[in-house]
Amino acid sequence: MEARELLYSGKAKSVYRSSVPHELILRFRDDITAFDGGKKDVKEKKGSYNAGVSAFFFRLLEESGVKTHFLRMIDDRTMVARELTMIPLEVIVRNLAAGSIVRNYPFKEGQPLNPPVIVIDYKDDSRHDPMLNDDLIVALKVVTGPELATIKQIALRINDVLRQHLARQGITLVDFKLEFGKGQDGTIYLGDEISMDSMRLWDAKTGESLDKDVYRFDKGDVLDVYDKVSHRIIADKKGS
Ligand code: 5GP
Repeated sequence: MEARELLYSGKAKSVYRSSVPHELILRFRDDITAFDGGKKDVKEKKGSYNAGVSAFFFRLLEESGVKTHFLRMIDDRTMVARELTMIPLEVIVRNLAAGSIVRNYPFKEGQPLNPPVIVIDYKDDSRHDPMLNDDLIVALKVVTGPELATIKQIALRINDVLRQHLARQGITLVDFKLEFGKGQDGTIYLGDEISMDSMRLWDAKTGESLDKDVYRFDKGDVLDVYDKVSHRIIADKKGS
């Protein structure tokens, strides 16, 4: 299957039309950015680490009954995915307080959030992805109230699956961001990626960052961290 017309180029992925109707080709590039694109670099192989982890999680989620856009991999950085009409929401699930909610609210870094907290941002870089609430989401007609309830339910199910798998590998799932879209019949699917760029992961023993915070805050060699953590994540599901 070949990549045809470039449909969209984001900060770290390019999306192409393919020769098959309603199947898109997603290429995970080596670009890494932070702070709304204010910090940028190219890190060789980074795209393949994120693609590998995303494919692994999409397969794991499908096995757990979550509908995702993932169809198959073509090579180590190229994914074939079902075409979706993307919903412009960033659905963030938080198990421990970190990042923007520590900056914006009186939470302590690492404070457990039990039950997990779902925060939903409006995906719009020009507005710096402002936080929404349920009324705003429905008033903006991004999704209906019942669709929003479904999205939250799926997000919590995804949290359970990822959290359990990562815990078995000695990794704490602090928070992560999801994006959803609608298939042709209106069914809601998980889209985009689930990778070290979109999750916050801490080593359960040492508390070290194993995600893009290493790049954001110059905590070490981001490629070395992505290499090691992707091998830990993709380790045999039962053998650990
Ligand atoms: P925070 O709100 O603390 O900046 O981010 C919470 C979590 O969502 C982090 O794991 C972060 O990586 C992820 N996240 C938030 N916004 C974005 C975004 O625009 N792109 C990506 N890839 N991840 C995001």
